[in-house]
Amino acid sequence: MQKALTLILDIQEIDMQMIRLMRLKRERQKELSNIDSIKKDLQRKVLMKESEIIEYKKNIRLDEGEIQTVVENTKKLEGQQGAIRKVEEFNALSQEISSLERDRSAKEQRLSDLYDKLAGEEDIYKTLKESLSTTADSSRELVDEINDSIHRIDEEGRILKGQRDKLAVKADSEIFPIYERLLRNKKNRVVVPIEHRSCSGCHIVLTAQDENLVRKGERLTFCEHCSRILFWPEGEAAEASGTRPRQRRRRAPTKSA
Ligand SMILES: [Zn+2]
Repeated sequence: MQKALTLILDIQEIDMQMIRLMRLKRERQKELSNIDSIKKDLQRKVLMKESEIIEYKKNIRLDEGEIQTVVENTKKLEGQQGAIRKVEEFNALSQEISSLERDRSAKEQRLSDLYDKLAGEEDIYKTLKESLSTTADSSRELVDEINDSIHRIDEEGRILKGQRDKLAVKADSEIFPIYERLLRNKKNRVVVPIEHRSCSGCHIVLTAQDENLVRKGERLTFCEHCSRILFWPEGEAAEASGTRPRQRRRRAPTKSA
């Protein structure tokens, strides 16, 4: 039993490294997607600003056209005025002309506001474009660095996987599937030593009976609380802090309990 567990413990150490690598990879991938979403957000803002500017320009052209028409109409009326003899008709035309002039002045005011707004929007657009290109430039190095590190993580993972596969074929065919199922659930060490008479996975105190079973090592013993597989840390008393059974230490024979 102890020998079978020793091999599982070796596999477990590899699995812990692989879990750490996978977490690291996920973190780095998250960084990449953050950078990407910052860029996308800026691109979206640039596009929106572009279409706002197009809209302003369109309105400006419309207003300019309308003002042109008013100017032409005014000129026409002024021309007619020269040919008129009757005072009433002359006055009526004068009123019409001044009404057109008021209209024109209102339109010119609106146009001037539009010019101001357009200038403001174009400034914002320029700033957005600049920060988009700065972001792209400054993130390029970071993105390369992250991609490199992901590549290294994958490489390291492949090596570990190779080592694991070699051990897995030698693993006990009954214990190994149990170990793998527990590992999938806990994503952490699932074969743990007894420490201070407790399960070192969940720290629940074990009964003397369970402790004895584990010490004998005749069959697989699970922690009743967390279902982890328990083992007796050899070479030390149960106080040993997670020492691996393989690293047996020679101790002078003393009056041990
Ligand atoms: Zn436990």
